[in-house]
Parts: sequence; structure tokens; C-alpha cells
Amino acid sequence: MGIKSRFVKKMLSTLGKRNFQNLIELEEQLTQIANTYQSVEESPIRFEIVFEAIEYPADKLKLFSSLRTMKEIPSIMRNIIKSLKSINHNPEEPKTSISDEFLQEFEEYAKSLNIASIGYAKLPRKFIFKEKAVLHDNAIVLTMEMDKEKIEQAPSGKTATMIMQTYDRLGKASNKLTKYLRETGYSAQAGHPLGGLVLYPPLAESADLGYRGKNGLLITPEHGSRVRLTAIYTNIQNLPFAEKNNCKMIQEFCEKCFRCVRKCPGFAIRDYPIKNENGLLTHIDNEYCFPVFLEYHGCSICLKECSFSRVEYSKLMRQFNTQSLDPELI
Ligand code: SF4
Ligand code: SF4
Repeated sequence: MGIKSRFVKKMLSTLGKRNFQNLIELEEQLTQIANTYQSVEESPIRFEIVFEAIEYPADKLKLFSSLRTMKEIPSIMRNIIKSLKSINHNPEEPKTSISDEFLQEFEEYAKSLNIASIGYAKLPRKFIFKEKAVLHDNAIVLTMEMDKEKIEQAPSGKTATMIMQTYDRLGKASNKLTKYLRETGYSAQAGHPLGGLVLYPPLAESADLGYRGKNGLLITPEHGSRVRLTAIYTNIQNLPFAEKNNCKMIQEFCEKCFRCVRKCPGFAIRDYPIKNENGLLTHIDNEYCFPVFLEYHGCSICLKECSFSRVEYSKLMRQFNTQSLDPELI
């Protein structure tokens, strides 16, 4: 094992394991609070990326292969822990309704923090990870764009670093927006994009922010699959919850496309949905994906190669709807 591999392993074991234990304990404490929204029988099990990485043979692990990628981890951990500890700062008698003016102000503040899109959804308990809980079932779902140029370099250390930076920025934005809601008299809990308490892609679908593709990722009209997701859980009852999903055509598009299936180096994307070990129906076979993901800088080829990450949503959909889809584009 080389010096660099040993160093990465040591950093992960000390920084990662200690902080991760801390946050797992905080998450457990949340489940003990009365009237929280808890997972149910059909809830998925969360994939613990840090523990997976710690257990993986260090000479093969390239997920955090550069110091620049590692650099973001302490800040990410701090902000996850902050999101959990800060629920103690919620007002004792919170307001439950929001005015159109304040919602507009909130959205403008979110945009100033580089939030790409915002949607609202009631949170079904089946989306909460097994043995986890959140304070409220009104979700404000947020997306943040990932840098196109860096995604195009996937798989690489540069791409992995940019992805970690996006996780960190979105986590910080989620905490800031939650603080803003609290200071205005609402109860809120920030979710973090890495190691969240809820499975974000189906929640984002419910909030009409996009639709899941065969690559298992949310595809958005604004940036295709090039987004990271998080959510804020709040007691605000009168949010403009989405009533339908306007991007359902993506599912039909995927049935004609299959680009990610062809491009996946691990042969991990199936033509048809499969049930993975956590009970979820998905096209991704984790057993084939994880080794590639851990050994090739977080891979991200399915994200880069998704037709909607490469070509404008409106152009692809226009061609698809008029049955004139250019085969060169998919
Ligand atoms: S991350 Fe890589 S290996 Fe995993 S599904 Fe995507 S393209 Fe395939
Ligand atoms: S590459 Fe094609 S099949 Fe795969 S998720 Fe994107 S649109 Fe769907």
C-alpha cells in the first residue's frame, strides 16, 4: 500500500469514523423525539458511503484520492452535525402559515445562495430512510447545479472535488435557509445533500422538480442530471405543494434512449427495473456500480452521459414529442 493510500485511509478512519458515529447518535436522538415523522416498513436503507469507503481496500480506493477532494469533508461533516443540533433553536410556539410575500423573499434569498430550483411536497414516510426521522412532513426541496465543464471530465479527481464542493455549498445553503425560517418564527430542520435522512430523488419528483431517469438520478428541465438535491422540513402548512409532475415524459424518453445503459463502464444500469437490497425498484445494480464508483473517483459517467445533461431539455422533448428524435443526440 503506498504512502498516499495509507494517508487517505487514516484520514477517512479518524475524521470520517469519529464524526460519522457522532452524527448517527444525533440521528438516533431525533427518532426519540415525540411526534416526529419516522420511517416505515417499506422505507429504504441508507447507503453509508463513508463506512463503505473506510472498509474498501485502500490501494484501490480512488473516491477521495486527492487532498483537494478530502478538504471538503470536515466542512461537510460540520454542516451535517449543525443541521441536526440546530433543531434545538426552533421557536417554542412557531407560526404555521406563510404569506406570498415572505415566500417570495425566501425564494429570492435561496436564489442568491445559488439554489437552481425550489419545489414543495408533502413527505411520504416511505421516503424516510429506515430507522431515521424528521421533525415535519412539509418539505421544501432544493436543487443546486454542478459545474458542466467539470462533469464533462468525469471520472476524474477534478470532477470528484467539484461534486464534494457542491455538496458542501448546498449543505451550507440548506442550513442558512433553515436559520432564516427560524428567525421569522417557523420551525424547520435542514436536510444535508450528503447522508440525508430522506431519499431525495422521489421527493424531488413529488415536488415537480424533474423526474428520475434510468440512471437513478433526478433529471431536471434546467440542468438535466447535473444537480444535487436536499430538502428542508418545516411546520409551514400552506406551502404551494405540487399537485402533479410535469416531467413524466422523461420516463417514456428513457425507454427510447438507453444512452446511460450503453455508456456505464460497470454494466450496472439494467434495461428493466430491479429490486435492490434495500427494497427499492431501480435500474441500478449496486453490486456492479459500487466497485467502479469507489475505484474511479465516484465515476459519475451516467450523470455526464445522460442525454439531458448534454442536450437542452426543450430541444430533446420537442423532437421526442414530434417523433423526430435525432439518434445522434442519444
Ligand atoms: S456511477 Fe458509473 S458504474 Fe455506477 S451506474 Fe453510474 S456509470 Fe455505472
Ligand atoms: S441517458 Fe437516456 S436513458 Fe439514461 S437516464 Fe438519461 S435520458 Fe434516461
